[in-house]
Amino acid sequence: MKVQELFNLNGKVALITGGSKGLGYIMAEGLAEAGADIILCSRNIDECKVAADNISKIGVKSKAYKCDVSDPDDVVEMVESTILEFGKIDILINNAGYATGGPLEDMTLEQWNKSFAVNSTGPFLCCREVGRQMIKQGGGKIINIASVAGMTTIAPELADALSYSSSKAALVFFTKDLARKWCKYNINVNAIAPGYFSTEMSKNVIEYRNKEMMNTILMKRLGEKEDLKGAALLLSSKASDYMTGQIIAVDGGVLLS
Ligand code: NAP
Repeated sequence: MKVQELFNLNGKVALITGGSKGLGYIMAEGLAEAGADIILCSRNIDECKVAADNISKIGVKSKAYKCDVSDPDDVVEMVESTILEFGKIDILINNAGYATGGPLEDMTLEQWNKSFAVNSTGPFLCCREVGRQMIKQGGGKIINIASVAGMTTIAPELADALSYSSSKAALVFFTKDLARKWCKYNINVNAIAPGYFSTEMSKNVIEYRNKEMMNTILMKRLGEKEDLKGAALLLSSKASDYMTGQIIAVDGGVLLS
């Protein structure tokens, strides 16, 4: 099979949580450019609709859903509606995330619980609902968006966010263990661990901790859109059929510093 075919997503259906902006939107754009129809969800439906309209201008079908990934009813409804309209789901990207900061000694239980609800429970709920469909279909691709923060410790001067890092570490382990369990269903479960990209979520740390951040990035620059699209396409396409349980860091070398 030629390399163009390996990466071709024509006829595939991809669901990307938190796809209305930031990294989710970048990955949606990349998968749409490779031919996939795209379902996006977020809590703000107006923003999500604008994003889906922009994706459809690429020439694929795209739909927006209002869904809080930490709400089981929302997730069930979104997955059922998607299957009704698109007939299947080939690719799931669990991208929606929540970050909160501050020293652990001052952290509230609410902050802690919300981090796990969005960053760990959300992917569980989406994997469960979409996974049932993928099992029926005979396979699929799941990509969890973790973080370098879930793979190494970070100096408190740069980011003091233990609930975030712990919930992302849980997602890393979930990825590996689910890969083992669902291999028999022909479902590839992998993760991307981004380093630092400029988005609404990261803008404060990028602005106020720039020097500390750059010290940890070997390549001395933030991640760009093009840096992420390729990794997302690899894990979404036939090109990664022999890969499962992998965590790909797209981080300019943060994990080596
Ligand atoms: P962002 O620009 O703030 O976008 C977050 C997206 O998730 C938005 O579409 C948001 O829309 C949606 N969202 C948030 N909570 C949600 C919920 N409970 N249910 C459904 N959708 C929800 O953030 P980002 O930087 O692109 O982050 C995307 C992912 O990458 C996150 O998992 C984050 O942890 C991870 N990450 C980012 C970086 C970075 O440098 N930016 C680094 C490492 C990892 P609504 O608010 O309308 O729901």
